[in-house]
Amino acid sequence: MPARLSRLANRAAETLAIRTGWAKHRFRSSTGQFRVLAYHGLVPDELADRPWVPPHYVTVSQFERQMNLLAGLGSGTVHPLGEVVNRCQGGGTMDQPVVCLTFDDGFGDNVSLALPMLRQYGFLASFFLTTGYMGEDRLLANDRIRLLRQVQRSGRLEGPLSPFMQAVLAHPGFHKQHNHVLLESEIEPLWSTNMEKIDPAAVRSLRMMSWEDAGCLRDAGMEIGAHTINHVILGREDLETRQREITRSVAEVDARLGLDRVPFSYPNGLAGDFGPDDVSCLQALNVPYAVTELPGCNTPSTSVWGLRRHCVGLHTSEDVFLAQVCGLRDRRLSVPERTIG
Ligand SMILES: [Zn+2]
Repeated sequence: MPARLSRLANRAAETLAIRTGWAKHRFRSSTGQFRVLAYHGLVPDELADRPWVPPHYVTVSQFERQMNLLAGLGSGTVHPLGEVVNRCQGGGTMDQPVVCLTFDDGFGDNVSLALPMLRQYGFLASFFLTTGYMGEDRLLANDRIRLLRQVQRSGRLEGPLSPFMQAVLAHPGFHKQHNHVLLESEIEPLWSTNMEKIDPAAVRSLRMMSWEDAGCLRDAGMEIGAHTINHVILGREDLETRQREITRSVAEVDARLGLDRVPFSYPNGLAGDFGPDDVSCLQALNVPYAVTELPGCNTPSTSVWGLRRHCVGLHTSEDVFLAQVCGLRDRRLSVPERTIG
């Protein structure tokens, strides 16, 4: 069957499973499994149609609806990931299927917009911080590139455009193939020349939280982890940089927040973005677990160095969300654990 037709057929089957209640039945019968959702940031509804909103963001009302859907799956469905990993490692079992909530990068809106909603529902989540950006106005390279691309589209981009930056702006994903020192040296001059043309609401929304904010999350019972210093994709860096990015980010979260053990999230987190050397480094640091962006479901036998997550974003409809949570997408989207040590 052609891929497009197959996708349509799968969607129709998912919708049917959700409408008939079979999806929830499947969820309830998947005891022993845990699914982890990967969020990044939240945007107020009134800004949702701005072109700068990253596709991996969700709106406030989308998030509220998703928390409501999780609450509808029964009390005790949402658990902190660290607790689930602990229980699995201790040989314990879960007496019901579990969903864990995680947030990558450390965006300020995690505290101003997500935390109040999590409190309202009594849900605990895990937050992975990009330590070098905490409390700064500097935006992640991904976000600066997306914003520069929009300035270029509006015909207002100024400054000499190197062949490298031409390729970065023309081909989404191209920048993810290069190390962060090269990227920063290319992006920064163009960004400084053009930053006045960026919507100030974008800069406000895409800014990271402060360490004080992270302390509020910790005090609210949330789990805090590390996500490197500079949001580097480990697989594009040399061994020394990889070890430094892991070690220092974990040490800083530990030192700033006084935590016992600090979990880790691999930036970008797909096959080839991390490898056995990174896993060895995490093990040496006594890190309890690491999450990827490889989609799928986890069981007590899944490697704690390669926990799978389903990403939630602006285009995640309610049906897709329920399909992810209830396990309808586990098999279809799972990919081999090629890089997990
Ligand atoms: Zn990230």
